[in-house]
Amino acid sequence: MSESIVQNVIKIKENIEKAALKSGRNPMEITLIAASKTQSSEKIRAAIQAGITVCGENRVQELLPHVEVNSYEGAQVHFIGHLQTNKVRQIVGKVNMIQSVDSVRLLDEIEKQAKKINIVQDVLFEVNIGREDNKGGVMPENLQELISYLDKLENVRLRGLMCIPPALAEEDELRTFFAQTRQLFIDTKSKIGDNKHYIDCLSMGMSGDYMIAIEEGATMVRVGTAIFGQRPPLR
Ligand SMILES: *Cc1c(COP(=O)(O)O)cnc(C)c1O
Repeated sequence: MSESIVQNVIKIKENIEKAALKSGRNPMEITLIAASKTQSSEKIRAAIQAGITVCGENRVQELLPHVEVNSYEGAQVHFIGHLQTNKVRQIVGKVNMIQSVDSVRLLDEIEKQAKKINIVQDVLFEVNIGREDNKGGVMPENLQELISYLDKLENVRLRGLMCIPPALAEEDELRTFFAQTRQLFIDTKSKIGDNKHYIDCLSMGMSGDYMIAIEEGATMVRVGTAIFGQRPPLR
């Protein structure tokens, strides 16, 4: 098992604790997700042995082979990448959560596929908090439409929100984006009266900014490079 992955996970958990305590939060309410895109089964297994309890995968064509060989055994797996409607069928029921839901079309398809296999699929709504073109996520002003649409569904359970702020944002801008997403999260929680849903997840922060995200309220951070080192290129 890879020594550096163990060391990295220990270090990140220490940092999570520091950031949580600094902002008066309980470190136990923050989940470290290993963003494992392009990593081998061996690396993923090493991360799980090092204490990772949730893996985050970006691409359906990587996720399925990993599921096939049990790479994620002992951990949950969340889908965190852009999701095409025609691939929903392949992952519903195979992932514990889909974090990147950003349209009514995706919701409809998740509902349909989850119904077929008689499960309730947990999801997050991804918010395009930096209002970037060519980026996934629902614009903040369209979030309410997705929330209202949940009334039509039976096999989808909303658990919260996810965001990926602009890559080049400075620290103060990042704080603003994270704080805005947290406010949307709080608003969402107060709007969902239905006890079918359970709004407890705010997924934000990556290798470069997870401590800032925690200070601004994240309950899940998605960390790749800081756990695994530099990523092998996409194939
Ligand atoms: C790759 C990825 C991450 C992790 O990025 P790092 O900078 O390597 O920590 C987090 N979230 C999503 C959606 C990603 O695609």
